[in-house]
Amino acid sequence: MRVTVDQERCIGSGMCVLAVGEVFDQREEDGVVRLLREDVPDELRDRVRRAAAVCPSRAITVRRDAEAQAG
Ligand code: SF4
Repeated sequence: MRVTVDQERCIGSGMCVLAVGEVFDQREEDGVVRLLREDVPDELRDRVRRAAAVCPSRAITVRRDAEAQAG
């Protein structure tokens, strides 16, 4: 599973960091999301999906590996 973030859309609410701090962080200066890793290990999948679901600005996109390879 692959995850991407749209920093232009992010409003810095930090919900994703609360959901899965292993994958998301926030920039110190403005709170905008920072992606720590694009590839999501199996054990974090559910939490990353939850992070995408709770993101108020829909800035998080989750794709299966096959979709990511297809572009
Ligand atoms: S939950 Fe969404 S809006 Fe909030 S910090 Fe994460 S990416 Fe940005």
